[in-house]
Amino acid sequence: MFKEQTLSTLLDGHVEDNGLFCHGTYKGLNFIIKPFNNAYTIVISAFNENDAINAELQNYLKQYKVENKKQIKDVSVTRYDAYLSFSAKGKKEQLGENINELLKPVFAYLVTNGYHSCCENCGNDNETVACYNINGTPTWLCQQCAITIADAYQQNKQEKQNINSNPITGAVGALIGALVGGVAWILIGKVGLMSGLAGLVGVVLAFRLYDKFGNGLDIKGVVISMVIVLIVLYVANRLGWAWELYDAIKDYGYSFSDCFANLSEYLKLIEVYDSYIMDIVVGLALTVVGTIGNVISTVKGVSGKYNITKL
Ligand SMILES: [Zn+2]
Repeated sequence: MFKEQTLSTLLDGHVEDNGLFCHGTYKGLNFIIKPFNNAYTIVISAFNENDAINAELQNYLKQYKVENKKQIKDVSVTRYDAYLSFSAKGKKEQLGENINELLKPVFAYLVTNGYHSCCENCGNDNETVACYNINGTPTWLCQQCAITIADAYQQNKQEKQNINSNPITGAVGALIGALVGGVAWILIGKVGLMSGLAGLVGVVLAFRLYDKFGNGLDIKGVVISMVIVLIVLYVANRLGWAWELYDAIKDYGYSFSDCFANLSEYLKLIEVYDSYIMDIVVGLALTVVGTIGNVISTVKGVSGKYNITKL
């Protein structure tokens, strides 16, 4: 996240940078810094028995934001944390100093007013806490919470791995979902638009209905659903083109089934076959781009994979 030079000055060098986020302890308070929309968010673990829901802290932060409105974008609190989103002004070489100027008064306020760090999950402040990376999200936790959270992930993984879906009934569900995507594909194509939206609708519904009809979604179900969606979208594209062709040549005695069955041949005759191929290639490419995020998160979800590391 930060260059060596910045890290050596930032909060007096009490910052550990792992590339995606930073964590550290300054003046006894644990914090995390994450990049946020070309700026940063700092989360400071701050708890005070005399300010049970951190309402006073919120008032202070709001006031502080008014005083530094050019740099501080947003402030908020939870019971155990203070949040500040900020941008850093000035030259890159002075980044560390500039952030210090902005953040050190906040730390000073917290220390002076008796705020201290605790477990961000349970609020326990008697035990030592450590920073854990939970699936890419950093959190300060006591040992007991870290164990409880890891156990819950492990149990979830076990449950996911025990799912053995019914591929026949699941495929029926996936087909229904894919067909909705197919109809959307034809209708969107009919008004002359191309987008990955129809594909996304098909994929999301196919997964959901496979899950419902097939008694759970497992990796096998994801693969079956994807194959069904791709076939349905291919057929939908062909139907859309046959429909258009039929509209153009029906007066010459051609039926819709003629157009559908001999589509490639007819399109070659009127020299638009290349556009047809292009249409399906671009359409499927847009579908891949539009659905890849959903597919990856679904695969992660059904495999129950998790990653918890103590930093
Ligand atoms: Zn805890």
